[in-house]
Amino acid sequence: MNFFRSIAIILVSYLNFSVAENSGYWQQSVDYKMSVVLIDSVRQLACSSTIIYKNNSPDTLREMYMHLYPNTFQIGSVKHREYMNDYGRESRAQYFKDNLEGYESTIRVRNFTIAKEEDIILLDYKVDDTVLHAELKKPLFPGEEIRIDLDWNHHVGGMVERAGYIDGQYNMAQWYPKIAAYDEKGWHAEPFHAEGEFYGEFGNFDVTFELPERFIIGASGVVTSGNPGWESVRVDTSVNFDSWLEKFEDTYQEPKENKFRKVRFIAEQVHDFAWVASPNFLYEHEKWSNIDVHVLYNRVNASDWNRVVRHRTVRALKWLTDNFGKYPYPQVTNTDRIRSGGMEYPMIVMNGSDSESLIVHEIGHIWFYGILGNNELDEAWLDEGFTSAQTRDYMIARYGSKGFDMEYDDWVEPYQRKYWSFSNRLHSDQWYSIRYITSGYDEPISRSSYLFKNGSAYRQNAYTKPSLMLNELRYLLGDSVYYSSIQDYYKSWEFKHVNEKRFISSIEKTTKKELSWFFDAWLHDTRVMDYKIQSWSKSQNTDGSYAIDLSIVSLGNRYMPLLIETELEDGTSDRQWWSNHLWRTSDTIRYTVSSKPIRITLDPDVQTMDIDFRNNTTKMDHKFIFDWPGMSYNPRDTIVYRWLPSLYYNHEDSYIPGLRIDRTYGHWEKKRLWLNYATAKDSVSNKNNFYWSYLNVYKPVHMLRHSKLKLWGFNQPGLQEFGMEIEKTWSKTYRKSPYHISRAGFYFQPVVDTLRTNLFDPGKLAVIYLKYKINNKLIDFESEISSSVDPYSDWSFSRITFVSSVNSSKSFSTENLVKKFIGFTFGGYRGRMFAGKIWTDKIGVPNQEGYNIEGNSSADMFRLSYLRDEESFLGFNEINKNYHMAGEGNIRGFVSQNEKGADAVGSVSSEIFMVNKQADGKGFLEDTPISVELAFFADAGIFYNNGSTRKLADTGLGIRLSSTVYEKPLYLRLDFPFILFKDGNRIINDRGWIISFQRGI
Ligand SMILES: [Zn+2]
Repeated sequence: MNFFRSIAIILVSYLNFSVAENSGYWQQSVDYKMSVVLIDSVRQLACSSTIIYKNNSPDTLREMYMHLYPNTFQIGSVKHREYMNDYGRESRAQYFKDNLEGYESTIRVRNFTIAKEEDIILLDYKVDDTVLHAELKKPLFPGEEIRIDLDWNHHVGGMVERAGYIDGQYNMAQWYPKIAAYDEKGWHAEPFHAEGEFYGEFGNFDVTFELPERFIIGASGVVTSGNPGWESVRVDTSVNFDSWLEKFEDTYQEPKENKFRKVRFIAEQVHDFAWVASPNFLYEHEKWSNIDVHVLYNRVNASDWNRVVRHRTVRALKWLTDNFGKYPYPQVTNTDRIRSGGMEYPMIVMNGSDSESLIVHEIGHIWFYGILGNNELDEAWLDEGFTSAQTRDYMIARYGSKGFDMEYDDWVEPYQRKYWSFSNRLHSDQWYSIRYITSGYDEPISRSSYLFKNGSAYRQNAYTKPSLMLNELRYLLGDSVYYSSIQDYYKSWEFKHVNEKRFISSIEKTTKKELSWFFDAWLHDTRVMDYKIQSWSKSQNTDGSYAIDLSIVSLGNRYMPLLIETELEDGTSDRQWWSNHLWRTSDTIRYTVSSKPIRITLDPDVQTMDIDFRNNTTKMDHKFIFDWPGMSYNPRDTIVYRWLPSLYYNHEDSYIPGLRIDRTYGHWEKKRLWLNYATAKDSVSNKNNFYWSYLNVYKPVHMLRHSKLKLWGFNQPGLQEFGMEIEKTWSKTYRKSPYHISRAGFYFQPVVDTLRTNLFDPGKLAVIYLKYKINNKLIDFESEISSSVDPYSDWSFSRITFVSSVNSSKSFSTENLVKKFIGFTFGGYRGRMFAGKIWTDKIGVPNQEGYNIEGNSSADMFRLSYLRDEESFLGFNEINKNYHMAGEGNIRGFVSQNEKGADAVGSVSSEIFMVNKQADGKGFLEDTPISVELAFFADAGIFYNNGSTRKLADTGLGIRLSSTVYEKPLYLRLDFPFILFKDGNRIINDRGWIISFQRGI
């Protein structure tokens, strides 16, 4: 240990104590000395620890707590039980649901003692889940010191969440018995929850590792003796990487199994210690501003990591230092944890990719979490919110408002760089949280992580919402005051525990502003902000200037000062702050501008979380773009119009070219208009027909949080229809299946034109309906009750329908024969049950409202212009005759077999399928350029008409091809129903095949 460095740290700490802001502040001090032996063959760590604990608190302690975090990765743990109750992230819960086989970790403690001076003062201890609780015979008085000794073994399970063994590599975090934090609120001995991170005491770590020499090791701290192995795998960055690697792999001599290396790492003023070791690491080093930057990456990821990760790490260090303050440690190590995601520890980060955002986020945590040590379990926003904000600010500062590297990021295709519009990164984050805070499921930010209703709520409240709060704070204070107040906070609380109160009083002290109105609404309540320009007027003064009366109202319940921009006719603009915001829902502002005003906008730089910008301005911006498939473009201050050409065809009108135009504003507004013009003259009117269709989906901003209203009308070749529907969607927690969707609506069809569609019987029809659907991952259930509206309708009927579908799939293991020999990687089952009954009079129901035997519901088919009539597929009648669209009876073999519809149906469809999709290294299924699915299907049903019964069935094989061209998913299904049955007799199938662009179930 460097003596002078320690003295310096003590001095700095002492000086810090003397400032008024943290007078009376105290924190415990905990020094660890550990010896760790890695026995790779059994994935065991054999260790011993000596811990010196000093009670700096004014309290007398009669007990001690330690965390044994690895014990959580066992069936039945607190974490497991919470996952089973929907808490935490679904992706993480999956390991537990899959039974954790091969992933269990354990930590066992032996020879545990606590001594004060020469006295053993341990009375007894017990371990429950992840917590060790020790009772003391004699109390530990303020200012006293104790020594804790223990031997322990850690069986390293597979990599789950942040730590474990993966592909020969040890990612070791939360790996040792760790003293629980004790602060002014007492002990923080919470178990390892499904959601929630850590809280530790500052101190020094002195850790000696003994491990097979093959392993290259990196850790929190600096190497004080022994060889971590870096030089033996150091990349020569002065030459081409691929040729270096080739040569390296030819010449590298891996040390023998029975040889060991012994390395000692010392880390000072840290509250945690982590390490990684792998026989496959490569190493790069750079010195920046006296800080050693180490990068360790696995050879499998070397082509992505070489050089760029080192450069990005240095850039992140520099940016963070410039904006928040000095990096106080002698080194930083950026390591490759192989599995996606990332995690921060003092002086070391473990990253799952070379992504620049990820690097800035995790390195940024060394400032906010590492150096300012918050209780991550109770106030996760204090580190995640800061790192999310600083990552976004960094990316925008470096790459412009899009916030990513347009030139080198490999997820963008060259044509997308050229033609796509990309969202502003801040706007995307704002939309993401606006959706949440207006969903009806919002929770306040300041809540312990394990209390959030589910993983999405945690993500919103720990990360995005507080990052947007900090963005508003920056907007309020201005960049320079914002950064200097955070620098003050950082300086005052370096190597100490921070919390909300310490943060806010630090900001208030530097800014000399009272800000509780701002923080309380953000942190302790679920308020929304929505200011609106109610009205404005202008009048010209005698000197040529203009006086403006602007009246604004607050439709929400969160107050904010606003920047008001007035654009003037002469091309200039006037900006001023309105700060009369507190506890006020409306105000009229009078001001003068030099020339004629043409537009007024509240918050012109879109920095606040005003949930609806449409009412912030007297004139919204508009943008007209091509509707590229897969392109998501959602500015907050612009209405976007997307256009796409469309083409219909029928015998009467010939080709009918046109346009589809969508007008959207976030999730609040969607209007869709089709306009098409026939190229041939109508045989009756002798005019070219004009067709249109209009859909308006409206979502109220402040009321009916779960509901949407849909209005539509169209005059399309063959049919006119008008309708309206209210839809309500809800689930137990935010964005978590099962979803319940109920719809109530009606439609009427005044005109059917059988020259242009064969799907409808002619006549007038109006229908009113109620639908209810439960959308689950595995099973969906749908029901509908509907009735004709008499006397408008030419028919009279009532109908009740139930549909239930199941979908289950799994990837094949490597030993699976189908995978081994035929190359199919993934398989499953789909099933669907349908039951329905129609009550009607002698006239019966029209074709469009009855149950079709084979599927092909009229309403579903009419929605696709190429299925409206026999020639609609650009004149290829054969396609129409053999087309199958799943629905209703779904006995697909009976397509075009002239089986008439039914009044009552009970039917079942099933498919067993396998696909050749590839799983990537991270376990996600990836589409091959063309993925092929083979399926065996069988459909059977019983159909009633006025007392007569038909029993129909089919079975056959299908082949389905799917691909993506320019992000547009394409799907082609060819099914061969080679056996057909009717009432128990096999019948001849004169159509050997059916075709579809939709799934069979
Ligand atoms: Zn983070």
